[in-house]
Amino acid sequence: MDPITALLEKVLIEIGPHDSGEPASYIPELAESDPNLLAFGVVGPRGRVMTVGDDGAEFTIQSMSKPFVLALALHTFGREAVFARVGAEPSGEPFNAISLEAGTGRPANPMVNAGAIATTSLIPGADIDERTAAIVAMMSAFAGRSLWIDESVYASESATGDRNRALAHLLKSYGIVEGSVHDAVETYFRQCSVLVTVRDLAVMAATLAFGGRNPVTRERVVSERVARDVTSIMASCGMYDFSGEWMLRVGLPAKSGVSGGVMAVAPSQFGVAAFSPRLDAHGNSVRAQAIVAMLSDRFGMHLLEPHESIAAPGISVQESAAGPVVRLGGELGFAGAERVLSMLREIVTAAPNAAVITVDAAELARSHPAAVMVLQTEIDSMAPRVRLLQ
Ligand code: GLU
Repeated sequence: MDPITALLEKVLIEIGPHDSGEPASYIPELAESDPNLLAFGVVGPRGRVMTVGDDGAEFTIQSMSKPFVLALALHTFGREAVFARVGAEPSGEPFNAISLEAGTGRPANPMVNAGAIATTSLIPGADIDERTAAIVAMMSAFAGRSLWIDESVYASESATGDRNRALAHLLKSYGIVEGSVHDAVETYFRQCSVLVTVRDLAVMAATLAFGGRNPVTRERVVSERVARDVTSIMASCGMYDFSGEWMLRVGLPAKSGVSGGVMAVAPSQFGVAAFSPRLDAHGNSVRAQAIVAMLSDRFGMHLLEPHESIAAPGISVQESAAGPVVRLGGELGFAGAERVLSMLREIVTAAPNAAVITVDAAELARSHPAAVMVLQTEIDSMAPRVRLLQ
C-alpha cells in the first residue's frame, strides 16, 4: 500500500467507531440508507485518486450539487448577473430557512435552498429535462464521468418537497424566480438526486481546487475566476449555520449534503470528499466532517496556514560568457517579485561593468501580472545591463 493510502486507512480506523447522529429522515428514501457506510478520498494535483472504505457506495449529491449549479450559472451569465439574484452572505440559518433580504427578496446565498432554487431557475432550457441535462453535463465534466439521476430519490423528494415549493413561490413573488415555479423546483429536486461516489466528489472538489481544470481528465471545465468565486461562497456559506466555526476549526471551503457527504477544497493541493449518512443537528455528516477535519489537520491544509513558496520563487544563478543568468522557477507572486528585485540589485552591483545580466522567467510555472510588471519596470530601468527573457 502506498504511504498516502496508508495514512488514509489510519484515519478510517480512528473515525470508524463514531456512531452518533441519524440519517436524514425528511426525505423518505434517504432514511433508508445504510447508516454504517463510511468512505472518503482525496485527489492530488496530478489527478491521482486515493479512496478508502466503502468507496463503491453511491449516494445522492443533494446540496453538494449547489456549487456546481452556481458554477454553471456563473459560467453562463457572469458574476454580476448571478449575484443580482442571489446574495453572497452567510445566513447563519439552517439550509431550508427563508433567508430572503428585506425589500429585494434576494436569498442570502446560493448554498441555502432558497438561493439554490434561485440559481437553478437561471439555467436556460426549454423544459425541466433540458435544464437538468445542462446541469448534469456540467457536474459530469467536474467528475470526469457521466453521472445520472436516482429516480426513486427524485420521486421521494418531489413528493415531500412542499417547503422548497413554498420557498420558490416566495421567490417568484419577488421576481427573483421568473417563469415556471414548478420547473425551477423540479429541476432543483433532480439536480439533488444525481448519484455520486466519494471518488466522483473528490474529483469534483479537485477540479475546483485546481482552478477549474479537472486534474484527472485535464479538461478545463470552468475558468479560474468561476472556480474561485464558487470556492469563496463555499468558504463562507458551505456548511449551513456551522460555516464560521468550520472555517475556524478546519479552514477549508466545503459543502455538505443531507445524504451524508462532505466535499472540501484545499486550493492547489487536494480535492477531498467523505461520506457517512449519520447527520448532526445542523444536517452535516458527523463522521464525514470529522474525517475532513482530521485530514486538514494532518496534511496541513487549513487555508490560512502560512506558506513560504508564494513569497520565495526558485532563483538560481549561473555564469555565462555574457554575464550572470538569473533563472526563476515555481510561482512568482507580488511578494516574490520583491525578493527577486533585491537579489537582482545585489547581482548587478557585484557584476563587472561589461557584463549583461539575463533574468530568465521562461520556466516560471505561474506568475501574477502585477509581479511581472514590477519586475519588467525595474529591469527596464537597468537596461541595457539587465534584460528579461519571458
Ligand atoms: N434536496 C435537499 C433539500 O432541498 C437538499 C438539502 C441538503 O442537502 O442540504 O431539502
